[in-house]
Amino acid sequence: MSAGPTPQADPKADPQADPRATAPARREAVYLAGLNPPQRQAVEALDGPVLVLSGAGTGKTRVLTTRLVHLLATKRAWPSQILAVTFTNKAAREMRERVAAMLGRPTEGWWLGTFHALAARMLRRHAEMVGLTPSFTILDTDDQIRLVKQLLESESLDAKRWPARLVLSVIERWKDRGLAPSDLGPDDAGDIAGGRMIQLYLAYQERLRSLNACDFGDLLLHTLKLLQREPEVLAGYHKQFHYLLVDEYQDTNVAQYLWLRLLAQGHHNICCVGDDDQSIYGWRGAEVGNILRFDQDFPGAKIIRMEQNYRSTQHILGAASGLIAHNRGRLGKTLFTDKDGGERVLVRTLWDGEEEARWVADEAEALQGKGISLQAMAVLVRAGFQMRAFEERFIHLGLPYRVVGGPRFYERQEIRDALAYLRVIAQPADDLAFERIVNTPRRGIGNATIQLLARAGRAAGIPLTEAALRLVATDELKPKTRTSLRRLMEDFDRWRAMVEQMPHPELAGVVLDESGYTAMWQADKGPEAQGRLDNLKELVAAMEEFETLGGFLEHVSLVMENDAAVGDDKLTLMTLHAAKGLEFGHVFLPGWEEGLFPHQRAMDENGIAGLEEERRLAYVGLTRARDRAYVSSAANRLVHGQWQSALPSRFVGELPDAHTDHDSDPGLAAAAAVAEPAYAPAFRASYAAVSRRGPARTIEGAAWEVASRPRPQSAFSVGDRVFHQKFGYGEVRGVDDDKLVIDFEHAGQKRVMDSFVQPAGRG
Ligand code: ATP
Ligand code: MG
Repeated sequence: MSAGPTPQADPKADPQADPRATAPARREAVYLAGLNPPQRQAVEALDGPVLVLSGAGTGKTRVLTTRLVHLLATKRAWPSQILAVTFTNKAAREMRERVAAMLGRPTEGWWLGTFHALAARMLRRHAEMVGLTPSFTILDTDDQIRLVKQLLESESLDAKRWPARLVLSVIERWKDRGLAPSDLGPDDAGDIAGGRMIQLYLAYQERLRSLNACDFGDLLLHTLKLLQREPEVLAGYHKQFHYLLVDEYQDTNVAQYLWLRLLAQGHHNICCVGDDDQSIYGWRGAEVGNILRFDQDFPGAKIIRMEQNYRSTQHILGAASGLIAHNRGRLGKTLFTDKDGGERVLVRTLWDGEEEARWVADEAEALQGKGISLQAMAVLVRAGFQMRAFEERFIHLGLPYRVVGGPRFYERQEIRDALAYLRVIAQPADDLAFERIVNTPRRGIGNATIQLLARAGRAAGIPLTEAALRLVATDELKPKTRTSLRRLMEDFDRWRAMVEQMPHPELAGVVLDESGYTAMWQADKGPEAQGRLDNLKELVAAMEEFETLGGFLEHVSLVMENDAAVGDDKLTLMTLHAAKGLEFGHVFLPGWEEGLFPHQRAMDENGIAGLEEERRLAYVGLTRARDRAYVSSAANRLVHGQWQSALPSRFVGELPDAHTDHDSDPGLAAAAAVAEPAYAPAFRASYAAVSRRGPARTIEGAAWEVASRPRPQSAFSVGDRVFHQKFGYGEVRGVDDDKLVIDFEHAGQKRVMDSFVQPAGRG
């Protein structure tokens, strides 16, 4: 390797203090002391491109952090001359903290963060060059979806056939690959949206620009285009950044890779660390090829391999290595550890998901009894819906826990929506719940209508549901809105009548189906939709344990309140994807069942490649553990009120015997699925037949009554002259409770709410 470019950087640097000359002579820096030879080499090889390609727990992140310290300590660079990219905000924070601790000073203003955070910072500097102002907003997924829906509408595309999420995911994949609309040719269009994807992409980008907004993909795409098209901007960054540091390089997508490559052209000092066996974001556009091609992309690159794992025991490492050896597409690595022995990976099959949760919680408590803190334990799940059973169990035991990287089960959007329907059924006066779902799924009941309802409700001191009942009997609403609000009220009326007639989990299923809520997510082709549908099924299954709907809802509100009282020592509950780069003493890996893990969808959509990505995920999971890993599977799962028997994951069979202890109830593996749940599908069919006959009663005959103030007599009487905001002046012709029939001067005869009119002087 040549000496590499001299940093012209530091005007204040004392030439006498050239670190390359003096550092070796100094007393060895403390931060270098504990490193093994290849780690040290990776820290000290400051010039030119370096790739550290090595297995889990070999100290890649530690090397990167130490390298950053080394650059500063040897005065190779000022903080502002180093760009360090980590994968998550949490990782960035940790790196800052570690560096700050080593250096004893804060790290404010450093270029140290996620790709998104760094790109956003760059983009704010040059926003005008891409047609934005520096105060641009960053849209969230909901905003993006709404925007795409509008576009589909204005292009007269059928949103049922081409769901907004599908269209959006095509756009996002293009962005992941660094492709702006102008980079695409007719051949790229495909047949989604009738072959009009490129126009849609273009229109989407124009719309974002007119809103002075970006989505997450844009942060990177815009800066990438800037670096590609504006030589001066690029030259500026070349001048600024002397050293680039990148963690988790195996999960970079094409756009990120191109971005890094351009920035590295200035000084060629780029150090990437990663592990091809831990590439788990292929489904989001990550290209493991980036790491495998490093020496071609960065000529003269030094490739450093580290084989000593400092994290895990031999058994954990042996189990993980045996598992990942089943993947064909990999470089292959050896790993060893000095942490001998330890305990074998405990493999356990349990009866069902509830029992699995009970077992995990018991083990966690037993560990706690041995003096191990909860902070050192994690439960890593494959799919979000698995969390529910664990949360319930932890809450039941009072075991403090935190959910990382996502909301807790009952706080998820789809769960809150579903609960809101149930709450309105159980408690018609629950305005918050009603407001949440009155237009979800969309029924054309917009904000203006909701405000009208709120006004009517406030004026009469009645809940929104009752205000809705009264308003649909007037002309205050547009006919279409009135019809759909009336239908919704009729639905609630019918559902309420069913509370006494059917088991509440069954009722929940009916409500979710009849309200169109399930269909809304079924039509959604986005990456999260299936997970949401699974969560809804899990919610229905969870209701089984309670005798009544009220009992269940009460339980949920208690669960939601639980968080406040606990201290800092908490067990971590998170997805495997979010656990990358982290480590815990004891790691529980539940749900190792065929179809769940490996996930069926990954295999259906991507075949062998999908399966191998799942296996890498299992490898990531196992290698998070320092002291012991616990793998479990349930023999039965309650899915949508149906018991299904599950087979243990093939990954369980791939764990070498020498490193596992199978500690299962011997009768269990052979056990067949248990009997059908109490209510049979036939019930549902017969209900459907009844309900098809049409609503038995109309709103007027509503069987329920909302507890509210007695209706006041109207303050108006026949002959009064009044003013109504929408219809103008008129004269009262009839009074019916709180409703008035008015002849308006311009609008003709209307029925209105008396709270919406004011007395007007005669004249
Ligand atoms: P992953 O692939 O999971 O991201 P990694 O390769 O980034 O892992 P680190 O997280 O940097 O590994 O290190 C794993 C653990 O080993 C950490 O607790 C770290 O402090 C420790 N470690 C790394 N190198 C050494 C060393 N030379 N001496 C002692 N402990 C070390
Ligand atoms: Mg790491």
